Amino acid sequence: MAYFDYNATTPLNSAGREALLEALENAWANPSSPYADSARVHNSLEAAREDLAALLDIEPDGLIFTSGATEANNAVVRYFARLLPAGKMIALSPFEHPSVDEPARFYLKDKIRFLNSDPAGLVDLDDLQKVLKEGKVGAVSVMAVNNESGVIQPWEEVAKLCRESGVFFHCDASQWFGKAEGGDFSRCDFLVGCGHKFGAPKGSGFLAASSRAQGIRLQLGGAQESGQRGGTENTPAILGMVAALKYALRHFDGMAGQKLFRDKFETAVEAGIPKVAILGKNAPRVPNTSYLLMPRFENLRWVRKLDLKGFQISTGAACSTGKTGQSALLTAMGFPADAARRTLRISSGPETTNLDWQELAEAFKSIWVSFQEADTSDDAEVISI
Ligand code: PLP
Repeated sequence: MAYFDYNATTPLNSAGREALLEALENAWANPSSPYADSARVHNSLEAAREDLAALLDIEPDGLIFTSGATEANNAVVRYFARLLPAGKMIALSPFEHPSVDEPARFYLKDKIRFLNSDPAGLVDLDDLQKVLKEGKVGAVSVMAVNNESGVIQPWEEVAKLCRESGVFFHCDASQWFGKAEGGDFSRCDFLVGCGHKFGAPKGSGFLAASSRAQGIRLQLGGAQESGQRGGTENTPAILGMVAALKYALRHFDGMAGQKLFRDKFETAVEAGIPKVAILGKNAPRVPNTSYLLMPRFENLRWVRKLDLKGFQISTGAACSTGKTGQSALLTAMGFPADAARRTLRISSGPETTNLDWQELAEAFKSIWVSFQEADTSDDAEVISI
């Protein structure tokens, strides 16, 4: 029995919980008010900003605390829409999260150039170079890690190419922090992190804007966050987030160790379920994610059966569960439209054990057998891959 949906959200880690509870008790004052208690809270907030900047090895000046990744990604796209010179476009990977893709379609309409990707779901650097050479693009958005497949994008190379061409680079790194290590963020003009993906409270996140990327406004209102994001700061969530990230980075071995367990799980599932496909298997992936394309039976049936057995997994991106549309990632990888009905995403956390993974593999195999025995299914056709 185990939770396998860490790419959707994570429980609080111990440091995040401790810092959150402490701040709820002792740092609830408004950091902008004019008395000593508030000054103390203000100082904690600024210390958290310095700490976060040190963790990311960037300057604290451009760090803005947000309510999560959606807010930050929307603001970056709005910024591009407002400031891109006439005639310039924005280049996006074809599988950006909807919090990038939707505002891009809304604000930039036909001024979007989707980059090509390869069948493993990696953005195509040759295509990016071509686009940059043509000189029609003023900004590029490529995520660090895909939320569905866990495939690590070549975002550092993208950042370098963009910097060489003088083009803004925006990186949604929501699935990077806590699941991958290191990273040189110095060439990201806009870097986005999402607290609840790495053991921090919901409603916490950050946007790091480089010194080249000035004048972004997330919310108009008060002078908080250097005037860039009006609204009283959620100090407890922010302090919880920075403590959680520090903890996640310091204890990364638990997450790194997931690779071995995940790979054994995949071997067992491949042995037990003929023609199951593991998407992105040969690309660089974060250690916790396995993205399966089942040969038969709809993904929601699998999810429900696994849930009954005590395993929580998802069909793909959590925010699109219930939507019947095609996944942009699967399309980019060259799959037919109905492939989205057969995908399952399994994503573990640093404390998931080998036994949890093995029991999950056993559950998959027994459900496969039971589905076949009761085979009255509407969807008996095998997807060719
Ligand atoms: N970007 C990526 C890559 C994500 O995986 C998610 C969450 O699923 C988001 C952005 C949005 O995060 P939130 O819903 O917390 O704002």
